Amino acid sequence: MRALVKTAPGPGLELTDVPIPEPGPSEVLIKVRLTGICGTDLHIDSWDRWAAATLTTPRIVGHEFCGDVVAVGEAVTEVSVGDFVSGEGHLVCGRCRNCMAGRRHLCANTRGIGVQVDGCFAEYLVMPAMNVWVHRIPVAPEVAAIFDPFGNAVHTALSFPCLGEDVLVTGAGPIGIMAAMVVRHAGARHVVVSDLSAERLELAGRLGATLTIDPRDTPIPQAAEQLGMKEGFDIGLEMSGAPVALRDMVDSMAHGGRIAMLGLPGEEISLDFSSVVLRMLTLKGIYGREMFETWYAMSVLVQAGLDISGVITHRFDHTDYEEAFATARGGHCGKIVMSWE
Ligand code: NAD
Ligand code: ZN
Repeated sequence: MRALVKTAPGPGLELTDVPIPEPGPSEVLIKVRLTGICGTDLHIDSWDRWAAATLTTPRIVGHEFCGDVVAVGEAVTEVSVGDFVSGEGHLVCGRCRNCMAGRRHLCANTRGIGVQVDGCFAEYLVMPAMNVWVHRIPVAPEVAAIFDPFGNAVHTALSFPCLGEDVLVTGAGPIGIMAAMVVRHAGARHVVVSDLSAERLELAGRLGATLTIDPRDTPIPQAAEQLGMKEGFDIGLEMSGAPVALRDMVDSMAHGGRIAMLGLPGEEISLDFSSVVLRMLTLKGIYGREMFETWYAMSVLVQAGLDISGVITHRFDHTDYEEAFATARGGHCGKIVMSWE
């Protein structure tokens, strides 16, 4: 089969032929339809410090996908040949205290597909049946292909009850935009989205933010004032990883405000914690998706009419992966999807 592989340490990827993987007793074989490109894939492609410290080669990359089950191991009972699926790319140990308590998203021994084990940028993928999400509620294939980052958005956006609340989202990447759509759908009042990219702000505005701002032109307190908010934001969703965005967010929260951080800071962030203490703020880190409560929420949100397909701005065939990666890297885009059919 064709697969996009990091064949050896160093920059670049290779579209090459590898054997079709065989499913073990509790695994399934999936014929991949569509895949999404994530920032992680760009780090692996460029082979930064994180990638060099984390990956061994050869490795098939990619973790956002949808596809059809074409074979199942003899111990698999809940997933059948013909099922249309997406997959939870975090493989957990099942034996640690958190796993045993059902808090699998908190497993300390998590391995990621496309990072520590082979991923989905390929014609076929093997995965534990446990990790497969069968789409029993109909969903468009493009949307199913990005259930993984949609799950990051849903996990973050639903961290705190948001009905009637004023929400600040810093970072209008695909995940920030989807998070804004989710809180809007869940009944938030004002949803202010900040970014430094005009294209991304335009997309966020079109898809549901009540106000979009470039914080270099419109400081966040000014945006709050513009909306008639007197006491600051109730909820903050940090989706950029930028130190200044977190600092500005902390300064813009109402007393008792709650912040969920998904954005991965590439550096240490210095913060005046007296502000956190005196205003009794909550800061919560978010990783991955809850297994499988977030997946349930995603399917139900889609069923209830939330349409996130607008966040996908570019589509490529896998043979044009170089152009697809270059477009993703350029940042003048929303989500990018590659076809493997
Ligand atoms: P992305 O890189 O496409 O989007 C980040 C956006 O933040 C960009 O549009 C950028 O212009 C914007 N930004 C930069 N500085 C800013 C500032 N000062 N104020 C406002 N916006 C600013 O990323 P994405 O795919 O949407 O993912 C969002 C973040 O979540 C990334 O940091 C990513 O690494 C992280 N992430 C975390 C998890 C997790 O499990 N915790 C999973 C996936 C992604
Ligand atoms: Zn575990």
